[in-house]
Amino acid sequence: MSIERAAILSTGDELTTGRTVDTNANFLADRLTAAGIEVATIIAVGDEPDRIAWAWGEGMRLADLVISTGGLGPTADDRTTEAVARLANRRLVWNEEVATRIRQIFAAMNRPMPENNLKQAWFPEGAEVLPNPLGTAPGFRLSIETGSGWRHLIALPGVPREMTRMVEDSVLPWLAQARGKTEVYASRVFQTFGASESALDELVAGALPETEGRVAFRAAFPQISVRVTVAAPPGEVEQRLARAAERLRQRIAPYVYAEGETTMEEVVGQLLRERHKTLAIAESCTGGLIGHRITNVPGSSAYLLGVVVAYANAVKQTALGVSAATLARFGAVSEEVAREMAAGVRRLTGADAGLATTGIAGPEGGTPDKPVGTLCLALDTAEGCFSRRYQLWGNREWIKLLASQLALDWVRRWALGHDPTASGWQARGQPRAS
Ligand code: AMP
Ligand code: MG
Repeated sequence: MSIERAAILSTGDELTTGRTVDTNANFLADRLTAAGIEVATIIAVGDEPDRIAWAWGEGMRLADLVISTGGLGPTADDRTTEAVARLANRRLVWNEEVATRIRQIFAAMNRPMPENNLKQAWFPEGAEVLPNPLGTAPGFRLSIETGSGWRHLIALPGVPREMTRMVEDSVLPWLAQARGKTEVYASRVFQTFGASESALDELVAGALPETEGRVAFRAAFPQISVRVTVAAPPGEVEQRLARAAERLRQRIAPYVYAEGETTMEEVVGQLLRERHKTLAIAESCTGGLIGHRITNVPGSSAYLLGVVVAYANAVKQTALGVSAATLARFGAVSEEVAREMAAGVRRLTGADAGLATTGIAGPEGGTPDKPVGTLCLALDTAEGCFSRRYQLWGNREWIKLLASQLALDWVRRWALGHDPTASGWQARGQPRAS
C-alpha cells in the first residue's frame, strides 16, 4: 500500500487560545519524517465541529494519511469521533470491550465513573481500536476508499504522554507494515545537557552521510534530545543503527547523560542507587525544585536523605550552620555560602554528598556584580568540596529549572567518579575545588 504523505491535525481550544504549545504535532512530524513520510500540512483548530470537519477535509485532500490528536475525551467538547464518522459516512458503533475496560479503570481507582466516560466506547463502524495503555480514551484507525484513492484516518488522544506511547506501540508498527516496505526503521535517542540545539547541530554536522541515518533534534527545555534513525532490511537494521548511533555519540559525548527516554533525575537516582551513595540538598534559589524532581522518581528514599530549603539568611545560619561572617563578607549569593550550605546539609544528614544552590532568579534583586541569573553551586563530598559560579539567563521559572538541571548534572558526574564541575555548561570564573 502506498502511503507517502501525511496531514497532522491538532484539536483543542487550548491550542487556538495559546494556552498550550502544540508539542503533539511537533512529535508526530518528527516521527513521520523519520519514517520517510512527507508531512504536507499541520493544522490546528479549536473544539468546534465545523472547523474539525474542515480540518479533516483539508487533510484528506492533501494527504493519504491523516493523524489527529485531541478531542477524544469524555466531555461534550470532544468531537473528533463524530466528525470522522460523518466525513467517512459511517455510523457510530458501540464497543463493549472498550466500555468494560473504562469501567475497570475506574473500579481499580475505587472511584465512581461519570457516565460520560462511556462516550469513549463509540467508534466509527469499521474502525480499528488503538489501545491506550496509559489512559481511558483509546484511539482508532479507519481506512476508507475515496474517489481519489485510499485515505487512512487515525485519531489519538491529546495527552502527550498517552499519545506518544500509542504512536510507538500502534501507529508506527502499523504504518511500517501497511507500507509493506522491505526496509524497517529503527532509532536511538540521546539525552543531552549543556549545549544548545544549534551547538549540537554543528557538532554532528557531517557525522553521518544521509544514506546512513537521519539526525533530528527535539528540545523540551532543559532537555535536548538527539535522535538518529536508520532504515535498513530487518536483518541489518540493528547493526546499522549501532554503527550510526556510535558515530553520533562520539561527536556529542561530553553532553550526553542518557540513552533512551530518560530524565536527568532518573539517571541520577539510578547511579546513586547502584553505587550506594546518599544525597542531601540545601536549596535557596531553587526553592525545593531539586528535591521535588529527585522525589518524582519512585524509590528515591533509597538515596535521598533530606532537603532543606533555606531561603532566609537566618535559616541558612540556624539550619545549616552558615557563618554570619561568611554571609556578611561574601553575601548570600556566593560560592563561599554555597559551600557552607553544602557542608552544613551533609553534616546534618550524614549523606555522602551535600548539594547546595544559591542564586538570583529575578526579575528583581540583581546587581552589576551579581546580575539576575547568577547561580552558585556547591557539592560537598568525601573527595572535597566543589563549587562554581554560573551565569544563567531567562525568566524566573526558566532560571530555576536550568539551575536544577545543572545541579543534578553535577551529582550525576560526581556519582560516576568524574569532576562534577566539568559539566558542559559554561561556568564563570575559575572553578574551585579543595
Ligand atoms: P484531549 O484529548 O483533547 O482531551 O486533550 C487532553 C489534554 O492534552 C489537553 O488538555 C492538553 O493539555 C493536552 N493536549 C491536547 N492537544 C495537545 C497538543 N496538540 N500538544 C500538546 N498538548 C496537547
Ligand atoms: Mg481537547
